[in-house]
Amino acid sequence: MIHISKNKCVGCGMCVDECVNRCINVIDSVACISQDDCVQCRSCIYICPQSAIIDISESLLVGIGTDDGKTIKADNHVGMSKYFQVWAYEDGQAVYREMRENVKYKEDESKTHGDPGKAQATASALKNIDVLIGEKFGPNISRLKNKFVCAVVRGKCTIEQGVEMLKENINEIAEEKNSGKKRGIVLT
Ligand code: SF4
Ligand code: SF4
Repeated sequence: MIHISKNKCVGCGMCVDECVNRCINVIDSVACISQDDCVQCRSCIYICPQSAIIDISESLLVGIGTDDGKTIKADNHVGMSKYFQVWAYEDGQAVYREMRENVKYKEDESKTHGDPGKAQATASALKNIDVLIGEKFGPNISRLKNKFVCAVVRGKCTIEQGVEMLKENINEIAEEKNSGKKRGIVLT
């Protein structure tokens, strides 16, 4: 599925002229695709000077740290969440899958660079996850970034808002996942 990054698009309109099916419009200085009309020819990807357009064919499994199943944990770092709500992202849609209980682990807080045992325990609760969304990440973020894309939301928000931010930032998340670097991103 072809996606345009709202963060990168400057509304130049070059993709609009390039699209054979006339299925791109620039609205409020950001290009939008009418997915029903897109034939996946990929011409727009090559013409965009901002590299704002990518084809995301993969599906992603996303974990969100929460205590109450409604809001993203904000009073402590994501590894201290009681649960991880798991969502599956595919073709522009995010679908709720399951609620996973976090692994109980007594963290050694004297370790200034984070307790590796805690990072391991968190990762074991997040098996198969591609993206972890949280409001706070502790010093173990450098270890967690080796396992999944760590996506930070700014300020308190609901899980619903976090899922919307996931969809809005899916280009950057997919690029980060496939970059081969340590993977972290701030959701805007
Ligand atoms: S070509 Fe790229 S930057 Fe220009 S409007 Fe299209 S998506 Fe935006
Ligand atoms: S992939 Fe082709 S049909 Fe789809 S939006 Fe881009 S240029 Fe248009």
